Amino acid sequence: QAKKRGRNNYQFYDEVLDKKEFERLEIENELRKAMDKEEFSLHYQPIIDLTNNNMTGVEALIRWNHPTLGLVPPSKFIPIAEEIGLIVPIGEWVLRNACKQIKHWENLGFEDLTLSVNLSIRQFYQVNLISMIKRIIDETKINPAQLTVEITESMTMDVESATIILHDLKDLGLTISIDDFGTGYSSLNYLKTFPIDYLKIDQSFIRDMTKSKSDENIATTILLMAHNLGLKAIAEGVETNEQLQVLKTHNCHKAQGYLFSKPLPAEDITQIINQLN
Ligand code: C2E
Ligand code: MG
Ligand code: MG
Ligand code: MG
Repeated sequence: QAKKRGRNNYQFYDEVLDKKEFERLEIENELRKAMDKEEFSLHYQPIIDLTNNNMTGVEALIRWNHPTLGLVPPSKFIPIAEEIGLIVPIGEWVLRNACKQIKHWENLGFEDLTLSVNLSIRQFYQVNLISMIKRIIDETKINPAQLTVEITESMTMDVESATIILHDLKDLGLTISIDDFGTGYSSLNYLKTFPIDYLKIDQSFIRDMTKSKSDENIATTILLMAHNLGLKAIAEGVETNEQLQVLKTHNCHKAQGYLFSKPLPAEDITQIINQLN
């Protein structure tokens, strides 16, 4: 009896694994066709300058709308795209389309709007990263000063290579942000030597900062450190006014979050811009 149940349990466990694996394979297969079928789109989340409460920029965030799978969140498909190398053409698509869009908004009279684009680790270490970005800047005729690339701490673990790439990106005239700051590997020493412009305080610290003293301490310590290192800070995932007040008290430069706006389709950002004009 026990043996039988054990075996059934094992089979059950096995089926669960199979289901997960099947889902992954399905996403992988559909992902390979998604670009040609034009299933990707971009949303843009406003970034607010806390010194004047203006929208100073937007972060481009990819969306995948599949006819039967529905809206697949980036947290589900980006890691798979990364694993199978598809992130390279997808990342190039994101950059080109976001740059075209920012140029369009510039033509509407919003000249100083900045654009932030997320880079994945595989993209970051592509040998042709710099030439690819340069080509897109030339093609779309954007001002490189408008473009920010977001990388994560884990990408800088190979310090020597990361230093070279980051300097190349700076030479192109780009701005560099460390995304999800505080959740990964970081060496304070390299923070000082890397040519970084912004630290983006991870939303996990912001979420609980008005409930947990330790989360507030982490957020405010990151702000203090950013100031001391001559870096600027962006808070991500700001949802409440209380959070905003604490951030303002500690001189956080910029913020992003549902309190201001969710990520929006390009047309909605165009509408905001037209209202400002
Ligand atoms: P991220 O770059 O840290 O982006 C911030 C995420 O937080 C976005 O999720 C955004 O929708 C969400 N968010 C913004 N404000 C709030 C808020 O107030 N509350 C909450 N709960 N969430 C908020 P999203 O769009 O699902 O993207 C998740 C992650 O996927 C991104 O994290 C980024 O790492 C990755 N990703 C998205 N688009 C791209 C892309 O084009 N390329 C690459 N390589 N990665 C991307
Ligand atoms: Mg980001
Ligand atoms: Mg982030
Ligand atoms: Mg994140």
